[in-house]
Amino acid sequence: MAEIVRASEMGFCMGVRRAVQIMEGEAAPERPIASAGEIVHNPHVVEQLERTGVRQLPGPDEVDGDFGAITAARVGAGRIAITAHGVGERVMRSLEHAGLDIVDTTCPVVTRAQRFAQKFVRENWHVLIFGDPGHKEVRGITGWTLDERGRSRVTVVEHAELDHLRAVIDAFPGGFPNKVGVMAQTTHRMEDFARFVANLMQLQREANFEMHVVNTLCHATTGQQAAAAELAHRVDVMVVVGGRKSANTRHLREVCEGEGATTYHVESAHELEGAWFAEAERIGLTAGASTPDRSIDEVEARLRMLTEGR
Ligand code: SF4
Repeated sequence: MAEIVRASEMGFCMGVRRAVQIMEGEAAPERPIASAGEIVHNPHVVEQLERTGVRQLPGPDEVDGDFGAITAARVGAGRIAITAHGVGERVMRSLEHAGLDIVDTTCPVVTRAQRFAQKFVRENWHVLIFGDPGHKEVRGITGWTLDERGRSRVTVVEHAELDHLRAVIDAFPGGFPNKVGVMAQTTHRMEDFARFVANLMQLQREANFEMHVVNTLCHATTGQQAAAAELAHRVDVMVVVGGRKSANTRHLREVCEGEGATTYHVESAHELEGAWFAEAERIGLTAGASTPDRSIDEVEARLRMLTEGR
């Protein structure tokens, strides 16, 4: 049997554990509750919550316009949960105006990033977010960057490369702002954000802007990534467990591959194939921040079964 080694930090983070606990505490057959999108990006967790009575509605990024008005009629008892990734100010106000009872499970680390974005705009800084513009958390943060005239004061930049940043600056409508507040999607990799900031610094003189950087990265994520990178060197194969829609799970895979490890990303134990581990003496195991303990245990048990007798 191959030796299976777990990363020293892996699985449910504080924010996800908290969101799930809040929902488990709130769910009751006599008081229906709906979530605005997936509470966390993991199908097993979503299924488990559905069994306890949590209905899932489309998230704010899946419906156009007035989310509250669309939702109010469909929530039934009028209770709606904001997911761990959070929502923007307009969506929040819209839900309030619809008279819904809001259960807010936004992760405190995400709330902190939202508050920084809001503060930047109030103090007249343009917000620059290093992140995926389509990611729910990023969309939520950008939703807190409207100035008093309702204009959005944010730019989301997806890549850290110098040429890409120069192109963003050169193409900026009306000229690049002279005061820029810089932050990152919470689950991004520390080394990527450091490169993003270093490259921006290189461009400061030619583009003539002032820069204020806040580190909005999540310690849980950076700790898991460091543990996965360390483990990737000590094993023959890495297995990353987590939802395919989970950004931090995908980043864990990238971290392991970046360390040169053969890496497989699975959502469930049944996806594992024996051939992947035919030559492996040591198998490393890590899991995204939204992966429940049960999924990790099932993957470990199947790995033992697949490598038994050799
Ligand atoms: S990964 Fe970090 S930011 Fe995301 S939910 Fe977990 S604790 Fe919060």
